[in-house]
Amino acid sequence: MADNTQQTGLVTEVPQERGVQGDGGANRAAQSLFPTYARYPIALVKGEGSWLWDDQGNKYLDLMCGLAVTNLGHSPKAVRDQLVAQLDELWHVSNLFHIPNQERLAALLTANSCANHVFFCNSGAEANEAAIKLARRYNKKVLGRDRYEMITFERSFHGRTLATLTATGQEKVKEGFDPLPQGFLTVPMGDLDALKSAVSDKTAAIMLELVQAEGGVHPIDSGFLQQVRALCDEHDLLLIIDEIQTGMGRTGKLFAYEHYGIEPDIFTLAKGLGSGFPIGAMLGKAKLKEAFSAGSHGSTFGGTPLATRAALATLETMLTESVPQQAAETGAYLMKRLDEELAGNPFVKQVRGQGLMIGIECAKPVGELVEEGQRQGVLFVTAGPNVIRLLPNLLLTREEAEQGIAVLSGILAKKAAEAVQS
Ligand SMILES: *Cc1c(COP(=O)(O)O)cnc(C)c1O
Repeated sequence: MADNTQQTGLVTEVPQERGVQGDGGANRAAQSLFPTYARYPIALVKGEGSWLWDDQGNKYLDLMCGLAVTNLGHSPKAVRDQLVAQLDELWHVSNLFHIPNQERLAALLTANSCANHVFFCNSGAEANEAAIKLARRYNKKVLGRDRYEMITFERSFHGRTLATLTATGQEKVKEGFDPLPQGFLTVPMGDLDALKSAVSDKTAAIMLELVQAEGGVHPIDSGFLQQVRALCDEHDLLLIIDEIQTGMGRTGKLFAYEHYGIEPDIFTLAKGLGSGFPIGAMLGKAKLKEAFSAGSHGSTFGGTPLATRAALATLETMLTESVPQQAAETGAYLMKRLDEELAGNPFVKQVRGQGLMIGIECAKPVGELVEEGQRQGVLFVTAGPNVIRLLPNLLLTREEAEQGIAVLSGILAKKAAEAVQS
């Protein structure tokens, strides 16, 4: 190998200093990657169900699921078996051909939702990007009107492409990326008057999350959502619901909009859709079909045989094993137990959420508590500076839930005691 390298000038093996094992990943990440993430000094190398192992052999209870991705836990057997079978058949073909897995997945998604048509892509941002493009084109091509503006909400998160970061209601994701695309307005969540005054003869759509996830785990007010739907109907605006984090059983229904007795015109999925295999989807009602035609939108990797097989197996498992129902029950249990354990803790201000998307709002920043959790073998994340966010897999057992609660309540009790002393 070394001789060959000298002859060709090619480096055929990962250089030693960039592939150090046992350094928690710090060395590797620091040297060859753009520094877009603040990484913890842990390298996870194996996962099974609710559990993860690092390269030092430490075991962790996973209460974050790669940010609401591994909703069936790590390496769920049903999905794994389907993926392995597909690996032996066919990985990739162009969308210039029929892809049976893709068509079956679209049919199963539409049979279980208010949507009639699906476009597949690879990520959440791409799914929202497709929704924005569809809303604009529907107005121009189908309704024949010059409307392109999208209204979104403060504290929202819709992705990192130029259009979706512009749609996002948080300044920090926009910093340094000017000039941003035109046609996006942001109003305070829950403020109907502000929303009404933002609607103009340029408005094409309103886009929102039903639980603002990255923004701090804030469930939407049901009455407000009904008013938004009514406003959309009144002005013929499209209601786009970003279900990228709330979808695929996370909130206790397959899709979170089912809790509210309303239907979106468009909704988007990604995170939990493929159990960790990258796939996104934009789903819409029948009236939107004619807005897209051959060549108007596309994606090389959108809906490959492999990705759609992973999503099909995920969705079939969720449906046959009533996974959303299990998530609702485990979510109610977790919420009740957290309320009990954290009652009277002065550091904890509120426990809120829906299903298995739970936020614990604290009096002060909680970043260091995440690392304390890691030291005690439990992984969770934040949502904004003061909120601990729990996103366990939807098949979490009561015993696992209790293990997580014990560590969390211990950490929060210690924090409360420190606050009293200082
Ligand atoms: C994660 C997320 C996105 C972006 O998804 P990516 O796959 O990271 O592009 C968009 N909207 C919501 C609500 C999300 O949680």
